Amino acid sequence: MPLGEFELIEHYFRQPAESMRIQRGDAPLGIGDDAAVLEVPEGTQLVAALDTLVEGRHFPRGTPPESLGHRALAVNLSDLAAMGADPAWFLLSLATPAAEPTFLEGLARGLFALANQHGIALVGGDTTAGPLTVSVQVLGLVPRGAALRRSGANAGDLLFVSGTPGDAAAGLKIELGAGNDMSIAAEQRAYLRNRFLFPEARVALGRILRGVASACIDVSDGLAADAGKLATASGCGARIEVAQLPLSEALCAALGRDNAQRAALCGGDDYELCFTVPPSRVDAMRAQMTNVKCRVTCIGVLDATRALRVFDNDRELKVDTRGYDHFAQTR
Ligand code: ADP
Ligand code: MG
Repeated sequence: MPLGEFELIEHYFRQPAESMRIQRGDAPLGIGDDAAVLEVPEGTQLVAALDTLVEGRHFPRGTPPESLGHRALAVNLSDLAAMGADPAWFLLSLATPAAEPTFLEGLARGLFALANQHGIALVGGDTTAGPLTVSVQVLGLVPRGAALRRSGANAGDLLFVSGTPGDAAAGLKIELGAGNDMSIAAEQRAYLRNRFLFPEARVALGRILRGVASACIDVSDGLAADAGKLATASGCGARIEVAQLPLSEALCAALGRDNAQRAALCGGDDYELCFTVPPSRVDAMRAQMTNVKCRVTCIGVLDATRALRVFDNDRELKVDTRGYDHFAQTR
């Protein structure tokens, strides 16, 4: 017999939340009442973000459910990371055409594996029938006044990016079946595909940057576009050096150097952090990086031009810095 709405919530979302030890002492009332009640510690501020994944728009039909559960939370954790916030709680809104057990199990597995890793607790949500859509709202905490913003950078600050941007765009290509012409090893193919299906939110890095970065943004629409947003919000311009872009071996093998650079600048779905650090604080940042797994690379500098420009040595490159716009065709 198909599960009803209440059994579905109980079985896939309430019980796992309890059995997988991610309740927190600061959520006296979680799933089951009309709303959750949460304790916000004195001296901290609540940081809230919400991102929605729609089938056919943010992920292809046939995406493994475990990846969908992971990504729905990861893209939101990435927004908290960009603010320097500590993840605390999340809510899940799920619309699905049918209560299909294999799908729901996979989704819950992906979701709770990542939630556990970051100590974030599911405290509520909504479940409806409809075209497959997963929305997550995350709530995080920062010491009062310490949240990172896009707007704090100054000309002369160095521009950094975490990880190896561009991998996810190549991974999506592979996932869509368009990567058959890539003459790469099976492990490299799997690595790139994984970078799209299971992005890592840079939460630990964001926490460290709280004390050292002047501005921060997470890269979801493409590095050039998002670096441009940071620069604009800060009233600056920026210069990116393509020769300094951290490209993974797999990406270069899959696309060749030029297209790898293009993917790193313009591909989406990276969920890396792009941030600025005043030169005087770079050593302090490096000293704290020993506790963080990902690497960070200086890719340029903020300037007073008000434009984002990309250089290959002294030659300026034409790069699409607009990023992804859902309504671009309808304007
Ligand atoms: P209401 O009708 O009052 O909005 P619901 O029947 O939608 O309540 O939900 C009952 C409880 O289950 C609420 O606590 C709600 O937060 C929780 N809930 C519903 N769907 C989900 C979900 N997908 N994940 C987690 N909690 C959920
Ligand atoms: Mg409801």
